[in-house]
Amino acid sequence: MPPTPVSWPAVSTTTALPTVADVVAELERRYPPAWAEEWDRVGLVLGEPYAAVRRVLCVVDVVPETVAEALAADVDMIVAHHPLLLRGVSSMAPTTYKGRIIHQLIKADIALYVAHTNADVAAPGVSDALANRLGLVDLRPLQPSRPGTPAAGSGRGTGRIGRLPQPMALAELARHAAAVLPATAAGVRAAGDPDRAVRTLAVCGGAGDSFLADATAAGVDAYLTADLRHHPAGEHLATNGPALLDATHWATERPWLDDLAAVLRTAPGVDTLVSDLDTGPWTVHATAPSASEPRTGPTP
Ligand SMILES: [Zn+2]
Repeated sequence: MPPTPVSWPAVSTTTALPTVADVVAELERRYPPAWAEEWDRVGLVLGEPYAAVRRVLCVVDVVPETVAEALAADVDMIVAHHPLLLRGVSSMAPTTYKGRIIHQLIKADIALYVAHTNADVAAPGVSDALANRLGLVDLRPLQPSRPGTPAAGSGRGTGRIGRLPQPMALAELARHAAAVLPATAAGVRAAGDPDRAVRTLAVCGGAGDSFLADATAAGVDAYLTADLRHHPAGEHLATNGPALLDATHWATERPWLDDLAAVLRTAPGVDTLVSDLDTGPWTVHATAPSASEPRTGPTP
């Protein structure tokens, strides 16, 4: 689905730049907060709505490393995918991990905005960006938003299902995914017969464990997501589910930052940056020499 046109407000008489409120209004037109899951916490976290926005940094995670990037780049606003504050807190003391981040942002006058599950279900949304990187065509939701919910309709929902322009063996697809997704130390691993032909692929940016049954029901050849675990993945394969590809959480969500930046860049006078800092925890990937080749069957 092509992106809808942007409708930035007319430049005000007092400033030639959009305000935090203007940026928020445009983001919420693309990613209405009502589309977020009930447990989620999206929207403006920090920042005066009337403050001018000259430069924005798009990140997956608000962590000390991306905050340092924001400070070094002298941005006025961070737009993040993951909520900094998802659960209740009773202290913002700078001696705590998140309190330190909040103090740094407020002192530097940096606004913080979060678009999370509302950006996941949007069309185009997080999993469209992932599917596009992989070259999938004919996209539709893996789990369409439920009828009667605010996000229902117009191709919205979690994950995407698409078709590869050319079938690929699972092992080849894993190498393709590792090549086209943002590079990480962990790369991409696959589960299932390495020679299995993959024509249709389901994808879900972030932790997609809970959509394994949807991928099976959709009858796709393979499902690519992140954070897959031993027992759910093993049970899924043992019950003839699609082959699995496991990338890192950051690598599956980073592609969306380019779409987000494209929206923000249309604002008059706003300079938009995208963080390429891998915020995943994994820094080393090692295999025993004998484990470097794909195996074709279970070990005893
Ligand atoms: Zn995520």
